[in-house]
Amino acid sequence: MMYAVVRRADGTQKGASMNYCEIKTCDIANGEGVRTSLFVSGCTNHCEECFQPQTWDFGYGKPFTREVEDQIIRSLQPYYINGLTLLGGEPFEPANQRALLPFLHRVRAACPGKNIWCFTGFTLDGELWQDGSYPRCEATDEMLSLIDVLVDGRYVKALKDISLRFRGSSNQRIIDVAQSLAKHEVILWEGKNP
Ligand code: SF4
Repeated sequence: MMYAVVRRADGTQKGASMNYCEIKTCDIANGEGVRTSLFVSGCTNHCEECFQPQTWDFGYGKPFTREVEDQIIRSLQPYYINGLTLLGGEPFEPANQRALLPFLHRVRAACPGKNIWCFTGFTLDGELWQDGSYPRCEATDEMLSLIDVLVDGRYVKALKDISLRFRGSSNQRIIDVAQSLAKHEVILWEGKNP
């Protein structure tokens, strides 16, 4: 099911607003290769010793406007940019899903050949797939279908491991989303997690 979003004349989206804290271009820390990373605002997970608790506030940062979307899409064009990473904050908060969904469609249309990574504190099989679970909503399945790699799970201080690639604690997983959706079971990225 497509999720309908109404755009106003000024480019903002009716019923789908979000703030973001930061955009990093040429980021090599949050996914494979050189990327543009979008840090969104708002997170209800409140993990102990979260690395940036200021992003828990949905009102933190600046409005995510059409102009910001355009800026990110432009940044993805050079041949050496592998793709886009979403992180935060929490991209899978329902309000953020509704704002990100039309943007991800724009990225897919305007940036063929680029991949999309997303970091979430929620788990794919425990929460995002479970009817009735927070933060699953009408936008979740479609948003997942637009993501290539999902790094899932809350940051757990007791499981902190600085040797892990792209993860802060050992409960977190790097997931191949297309394969996982096809088999409806969690399939790790490249068959294992580095
Ligand atoms: S999910 Fe991420 S942003 Fe949210 S509290 Fe946990 S570590 Fe912080």
